[in-house]
Amino acid sequence: MTFYEDMSPYTYWNGGESFTDMTTGYRSLTFEPPYERLNVGWLSGDQPWASGVVPTGFIEALEAVLAVQAVNEMLGLHECELCPPSDKQPPESYEPRPGHQRSSVGTGEIRIPDRHGRAFAAPTLIGHYVIDHGYKPPKPFIEAVLAFDPSGHMPARYPWVHFPWVPEDAIHYDASVE
Ligand SMILES: [Zn+2]
Repeated sequence: MTFYEDMSPYTYWNGGESFTDMTTGYRSLTFEPPYERLNVGWLSGDQPWASGVVPTGFIEALEAVLAVQAVNEMLGLHECELCPPSDKQPPESYEPRPGHQRSSVGTGEIRIPDRHGRAFAAPTLIGHYVIDHGYKPPKPFIEAVLAFDPSGHMPARYPWVHFPWVPEDAIHYDASVE
């Protein structure tokens, strides 16, 4: 997948953010992001990446976000380039490889707000990178994940979205009525 340096400005998709709450599944909305987005975890097989021990609680907090958020799912499938190629792992399979906890293919992204009004933009594969490969994301991202409560809901207009910054004029649709 395309490599983006950690903490660089997000340029993968300049259209609206398409946001699905995995806990309700069918509901989604699309909106222009009012926040700056910074890349984290867009790893590539031919670029260096940081490994190391992550703080206690970080993996659990990251998995809690991965369980509820699905951003820009329509942009395609990402495959881990750190895993060795294997005929036993069909690229369309979401089953983790033997010895792994998370799948080496993923679609979509997550957003983690930070204290400065920005959002970190990471592919959902970041869970696999951290848990199965020992990737250590930048400290600001780790701190933001630890500080973020993905169970917190928007107060009024979008109560089903586990994300704090959806603009009032966001365009949304509800696929569950289709
Ligand atoms: Zn992998």
